[in-house]
Amino acid sequence: MNAGAPSARATVHGHCAEPGHGDNEGMAVAAIAFLLGSFVGSFLNVCIHRLPRNESVVHPPSRCYSCGTHVQWYDNLPIVSWLILRGRCRWCDAPFSIRYLLIELLVGAVTAAVAWLAFAPSHPWSALWADGAGLAWPWPQSIACASVLVLAYFLIVSVFTDLDHMIIPDELTKSMQVAAPFLAALTGANLAFGWLPIDLLMRIDGAGSRIATVGPFLTIAALSLVFLLASLPIAHRVYDRFCTGPMAWRKEDHQGFRAGVLWFVGAMVPPIVVVPMLIAWGDPWLQAVGVGLAQAVLGSLAGWLSLYVVGLLGTAAFKRNAMGFGDVKFLAPIGCFLGPVGVLYAFFAAAIVGTVVGIPMRLFHSKREIPFGPYLAIGAAIVLIWGVPLHHWLVGLVFGR
Ligand SMILES: [Zn+2]
Repeated sequence: MNAGAPSARATVHGHCAEPGHGDNEGMAVAAIAFLLGSFVGSFLNVCIHRLPRNESVVHPPSRCYSCGTHVQWYDNLPIVSWLILRGRCRWCDAPFSIRYLLIELLVGAVTAAVAWLAFAPSHPWSALWADGAGLAWPWPQSIACASVLVLAYFLIVSVFTDLDHMIIPDELTKSMQVAAPFLAALTGANLAFGWLPIDLLMRIDGAGSRIATVGPFLTIAALSLVFLLASLPIAHRVYDRFCTGPMAWRKEDHQGFRAGVLWFVGAMVPPIVVVPMLIAWGDPWLQAVGVGLAQAVLGSLAGWLSLYVVGLLGTAAFKRNAMGFGDVKFLAPIGCFLGPVGVLYAFFAAAIVGTVVGIPMRLFHSKREIPFGPYLAIGAAIVLIWGVPLHHWLVGLVFGR
């Protein structure tokens, strides 16, 4: 047994004894979350429409795309307005896509599900640090809920812009790469797999107390970033050599690629610097946040490097651009929340779902290319909800225990 898991489990049991966790309260939390979520869904509809077009998401207010009339607030209520107007403009009768309604329902449902999970008595999100910090219900649950919701909304906007335009907006992925390690550290979801990297950061001494040590973490993180920077000239050469003819890379492609890699390296530096500060000088609960932050960094690196290396090898093997660089940038923040083990599960789950869904779609109708981003988001959701039982089941299957 490792140093982290027993205390995590003990903390979880501690939560059970707290008040306010009955089924009725859970239902009430989920209902309120659905209502608030549907309003967020209304805003995410605007983001999905405008972000890929480089338009502001706050200005101007919504208009009918057909007659140009401003949509009044009472016609802009989530779900209800669409149903009352039967999906048409009040003034010119132009139809609005049913997708607006479906996304409001989806975001409401996802918000309710995340709130349900975050407030469930047995759920370990944030448990490792919250008790030590002296936070009582509902604060740790609310913080974990808010952090996971940021990830969920990021996934939803990314998936639908990816489906519409085959791109994930850069401003989204880039800001999430900066914010995700810190959000994920507060969530504690990435600690669910337990054994990594707690063993890298915490040792047990002879007397049974935990000793923090950051050497192995800093070594792995630094080596990964050095590897990434050193691979840049090689990556440029791979694209020049194997993407030829109409697929040939222009100067802007190379610049964008380099900027994307450098941004990610830069985004990893602050959390890497903060981890040893939290571990070395913090209270036990700050150390627990530090462990979560370290796990987020390693998860982000694992997510980025796995797709990046597979993409480069694939480009060389198939002699065409096999790397969806948008997907690489997309998987990095997901990795923060899932940790290095979880993000690899999400990658495999995405590949399996992509194969299962993709083959019949190919056979039956569409020649349309489906981006990998939506599958990655589904893989992330699967691991976030069922990752731990899945992990234990697989370990039992392979090692027979
Ligand atoms: Zn109209």
